Amino acid sequence: MTRKPIRKPRLSPARPPPPARSASGKAAPRRRSGRGMIKPWSAAEIEEAFRRFRAANPEPKGELEHINPYTLLVAVVLSAQATDASVNKATEPLFALADTPETMVALGEERLQEMIKTIGLYRTKAKNVIALSRQLIAEHGGMVLPVREALEKLPGVGRKTANVVLNIAFGEETIAVDTHVFRVCNRTGLAPGKDPLEVETRLEAVTPPEYKRHAHHWLILHGRYVCTALRPHCPTCLINDLCRWPEKTVAAT
Ligand code: SF4
Repeated sequence: MTRKPIRKPRLSPARPPPPARSASGKAAPRRRSGRGMIKPWSAAEIEEAFRRFRAANPEPKGELEHINPYTLLVAVVLSAQATDASVNKATEPLFALADTPETMVALGEERLQEMIKTIGLYRTKAKNVIALSRQLIAEHGGMVLPVREALEKLPGVGRKTANVVLNIAFGEETIAVDTHVFRVCNRTGLAPGKDPLEVETRLEAVTPPEYKRHAHHWLILHGRYVCTALRPHCPTCLINDLCRWPEKTVAAT
């Protein structure tokens, strides 16, 4: 018997959109490139979007509570498929007891599991946090280094986590692409791409240098609170006129 191939699920913004609509029922024009993606913004449109993000929020901040680069690393590892609020609730008492690799290892995996059990995938995450803490002690004297290769070798740490740590803890101009950033970049035309790495590479190429340091935060906050997955707040969106998403709505006049 021949098996049917298993099809990988596609990230939502890449699917073909249904017919365009607007709050007033007026159809929005479709503007798409040959491969079915939204037509990318021009350099002037990108500049204008970031100019507005900066004017609205000059110093955007991440929402994961942390004390030092190590606790930031742990918080980001715990935040996979979980909300920042749920992670903060668990890490406040956790970091009061363990805010270094040494104290985390001393706390132990069982106790750590107990303290983070309100977070999804807590067993795997506890295992990874203890393992990465041991690795930091063994290989880097308990330090979190601002080196991508070293970060990505740690258990439970991928490119996105490394980018967040490099940006927030060490001020590097990395742009982490999570589900929110991916959605915003594909819907608007800022940096369309079929997967997070393609979006990140494009973002790196098109983001003007003066906006790179905070681009990740502006985009993540926009995706989390304005350009939400199910019901984006298009009528009050500050880049509505620039956005190329065929399904966007506009304020009724
Ligand atoms: S107009 Fe709507 S779809 Fe476009 S960026 Fe704003 S919230 Fe998102």
